[in-house]
Amino acid sequence: MNRRFFLEQAATATAGLAMLPLFAAAQSPVQRLLASAPAAPDAAGAPVVPVTSVALPGGIKVHAISTGQVAVTTAFLHAGPAGFLRKANILLNRQFAGWMPIYVWVIEHPEGVFVVDTGENSAVTNPDYFRGVGLLNEYVNTHLFRFEVAREQEIDRQLGRLGIRAADVRAVVLTHLHLDHTDGLRHFPDTPVLVNRAEAAHPYNDLPTLYPAAFTPTLVDLQAGPVAPFRGAYPLTKARDLWLVSTPGHTPGHCSVLLQTPQAHYLFAGDVSYTQAQLLSNDLPGANASLSLSRQTYQAIQQYAAQQPLVYLPSHDADAAHRLATSAPLRVA
Ligand SMILES: [Zn+2]
Repeated sequence: MNRRFFLEQAATATAGLAMLPLFAAAQSPVQRLLASAPAAPDAAGAPVVPVTSVALPGGIKVHAISTGQVAVTTAFLHAGPAGFLRKANILLNRQFAGWMPIYVWVIEHPEGVFVVDTGENSAVTNPDYFRGVGLLNEYVNTHLFRFEVAREQEIDRQLGRLGIRAADVRAVVLTHLHLDHTDGLRHFPDTPVLVNRAEAAHPYNDLPTLYPAAFTPTLVDLQAGPVAPFRGAYPLTKARDLWLVSTPGHTPGHCSVLLQTPQAHYLFAGDVSYTQAQLLSNDLPGANASLSLSRQTYQAIQQYAAQQPLVYLPSHDADAAHRLATSAPLRVA
């Protein structure tokens, strides 16, 4: 962790810890404020999202598998006021947005099966799940997020229903190290897990105590040049049609996976934005390590989409599976 990064993390943690007593001690104004905030979405309303599978040219199949649902507060979705206030707003805002899917993308490629992210597991709905992650992280994960994940929605069960066993998977590729992307790692104990070395070196708000005990990712170095305008890229296949590309902002080392076919290109974009509409309106997400990197990533994706048909598939976009099924490209001005 470099010094700037440490200071930023420490400042965030300090701000958060300074505010926690407000919640514990202030019986009247804060409680009234919280009581007046809209309730978290009703768990019974969380939709079960069916698997979407498409066959693409070149003997490639892609499956969109939602491993349950997550809801976050609007401050996580949209970057509001800048600087300290933005982080304070993230901790104090209790206005929940609606349920979002938690997608895992499975790419059956002639060179092997690649799994992009691993989604959530059902233990996340147990209040004790976050014991030991630290006071601030426990508060954020139990008060500002809601999860609905059934055992049947975990990635191993859904892969099994497609006839794919963990042993058939050539590699798991992580866009970044947040829990809703890593909590299914327990189902891939013997599979290589590829992570951008920069993401592993400077994780941002990850929860290492929740990683499987034997988590030893294969760290990869992205090279400048092969997939402009992305600053870094790493080929995942010998055919050089599947890449890990650098899309920082949400975390400093955040990556997306880019699949190039003759007809269209597909960007499995992790948490670059929550929806395609958010990218198109240049509305930066609130959950963000660097707004300026996030802005550069938006520009790189829009530039790429201006050059070729690009299907944009972030992890939490309820419309992403439909765009995958129809190869609907990102239309930039
Ligand atoms: Zn996420």
